Amino acid sequence: MKNTILIVEDETAIREMLAFSLMQSGYIALQAKTAMEALKILDDISPDLAIIDWGLPKMSGLELVQRIRENEVIADTPIIMLTARTQEHDKIKGLETGVDDYMTKPVSIKELQARIKAQLRRSSGFKKTQVLSIGKLTMDLDSHQVLIGGEELDLSITEFNLLKIFMKNFNKLLSREQILNHVWGRNSFVELRTVDVHILRLRKALKTYNIDHMLKTVRGAGYKLIDE
Ligand code: CA
Repeated sequence: MKNTILIVEDETAIREMLAFSLMQSGYIALQAKTAMEALKILDDISPDLAIIDWGLPKMSGLELVQRIRENEVIADTPIIMLTARTQEHDKIKGLETGVDDYMTKPVSIKELQARIKAQLRRSSGFKKTQVLSIGKLTMDLDSHQVLIGGEELDLSITEFNLLKIFMKNFNKLLSREQILNHVWGRNSFVELRTVDVHILRLRKALKTYNIDHMLKTVRGAGYKLIDE
């Protein structure tokens, strides 16, 4: 379930530094020196996100973005553009081209990582696939069914929605506040305690299949779904 990130940057030192730090953070990092190289990779692989330098030899980063947006298979790829230019009109031009986010060099790795996370979070909500699958768990979002090894798990709507946000955020720690906002809505009058009550119910249902350990409590922080 690792996310794949394509890095397109002609400056070797920067590209390798980015690839290294992304790999350290658990991403799969693919590297391309030129737009042409990137297009070749994109023929085979749809990355979860692309980091593209504006200033590339021959075909510019902006042109590459246009090519990606025109290709139906990869058109939805979130793109973060790196640039040495700071003028506002350049930024606007970049955003009009279909860039999702923008960073001026020199790039702060911490900031880039935060922006990558934000983009991935946003895009995962728009996945075309209506089936989520983690370990033994399979969730069909259209038919509202959860299957465990072929058998249907009986869940209430709330438990279903609860499990859904865990499956969409697999391996990610979710605070009780986040869970509450996602499942009940930001403006609901539900108390945080209610989250725990429904987590318990969901665990009980998972326990029938001996997979309740997948829903892990992270003491003082929240919960996360794991596959161990
Ligand atoms: Ca460059």
